[in-house]
Amino acid sequence: MIGEKVKELLGEVPESVTIVAAIKTRTVDEVNECIEAGINNVGENYMQEAVLKNLAIGNKVKWHLIGPLQTHKAKAAAKIFDMIETIDCFHTAEVLNKHCRNIGKVMPVLLEINSAREEQKSGYMPEILPDELEKLAGLENIRVQGLMTMGPQTEDGEVLRPYFRNTKKLFDEIKKASISGIEMKYLSMGMTASYHEAIEEGANIVRIGSLIFGPRNYR
Ligand SMILES: *Cc1c(COP(=O)(O)O)cnc(C)c1O
Repeated sequence: MIGEKVKELLGEVPESVTIVAAIKTRTVDEVNECIEAGINNVGENYMQEAVLKNLAIGNKVKWHLIGPLQTHKAKAAAKIFDMIETIDCFHTAEVLNKHCRNIGKVMPVLLEINSAREEQKSGYMPEILPDELEKLAGLENIRVQGLMTMGPQTEDGEVLRPYFRNTKKLFDEIKKASISGIEMKYLSMGMTASYHEAIEEGANIVRIGSLIFGPRNYR
């Protein structure tokens, strides 16, 4: 089941787009099954889960943090992840930078954009981000490589399209500004219900859970 879904997805999504399997709540066996079918990148939301699954699965795949990074867990995050997709303020970036420096690592990160400008959501407000970039570029052990966004909660990909489009616009503007130390290489947008629209709007990373693994049972 999982293997078939992965193969369908790999056949359908353009090669230039990286599929990150969103593995929150999934077992090690389920994750291994999707890896055997050809997934090279996995995304976890929760640190505790990530630590356990990383121990069991190892580094045959790249590990993305796709949930919020709490500063008191930044040390563990520095160790196990290959990319942090959810940098949403300078303080968190600074703490992560310090832990990466301590272990001699340069961590690729994406900046999370609060594209729907929702008060309760994490992420940089799109209009304040440009002013933050110079500061972020000064952190030598993290490397900004792009943007990530979720958009408002909905099952309707068309509703998300304008948020994806605006985030791509911001991505292009930052790229054009060519700020030393800031790369705009990856744009992570789109999940099970919205990855078609996201790819059409310029995403080159999609984060997909339920389509691969079936509906989630939160325990
Ligand atoms: C859970 C999750 C996904 C995947 O969601 P699905 O709808 O199951 O594909 C993608 N991105 C983030 C940040 C998530 O938390």
